[in-house]
Amino acid sequence: MYRPGSDELQAARAQLVSYGARLLDDGLAVGSAGNISVRLGDLVAITPSGISYAEMRPEDICLVTAGGTEPGGGTEPGGAQNRETPSSETPMHLAIYAATKAGAVVHTHSPEVIALSAARQELPAIHYAITGLGGPVRVAPYVRFGSDGLAAAAVRALDGRSAVILRNHGAVTYGRDLAQAYDRALLLEWLARTYRLALCYGDPAILSAAELDEVTAEARRRGYGERRAGHQPGQP
Ligand SMILES: [Zn+2]
Repeated sequence: MYRPGSDELQAARAQLVSYGARLLDDGLAVGSAGNISVRLGDLVAITPSGISYAEMRPEDICLVTAGGTEPGGGTEPGGAQNRETPSSETPMHLAIYAATKAGAVVHTHSPEVIALSAARQELPAIHYAITGLGGPVRVAPYVRFGSDGLAAAAVRALDGRSAVILRNHGAVTYGRDLAQAYDRALLLEWLARTYRLALCYGDPAILSAAELDEVTAEARRRGYGERRAGHQPGQP
């Protein structure tokens, strides 16, 4: 069993606060909506419930075990009691960590993906950069926030992808670290916006599976995957 040291823990807390502020700045969430987490060995550090990102401090970040409980005892670095309540979407974050090799998960309430989710079953390949998310992004069916059902729906729709759109709710992306997971959240929102703009012209052309495969193969040939040890499209 691996538990993070106090330096690692402190760095993760600071990083989550910093990226939380970016969620607001980049228009991916408002107030305290959305939530982000990083995996630290056997533990997950996650933003608290109901605290606006503008007011969030490193000590407000919560720690949970893979089972969703607080790490026990005060004798280990991760053992301090949480001052706040972990995000209501903690079950969804934990389900994604259990099903993938994600090192970080970003859940947004960003307007472009929410608008798309109300009208479409998936975000199609309007641009080849969607290969960075594993391909066309599915819209998972609506299930109430904070429920195990939503966690299961998100994991199902993530199959072979590093992004999922949640109907009438938001989106989730994951990556090997928080920087990659966050970049994917920005890419997803940009793709949804681009698709909406294309719809203004009528019936937009969409890239085929073969065209996307060609992009993935060329990216691999150029060694784009080498900076990401073991990276496969759609996987962190
Ligand atoms: Zn949400």
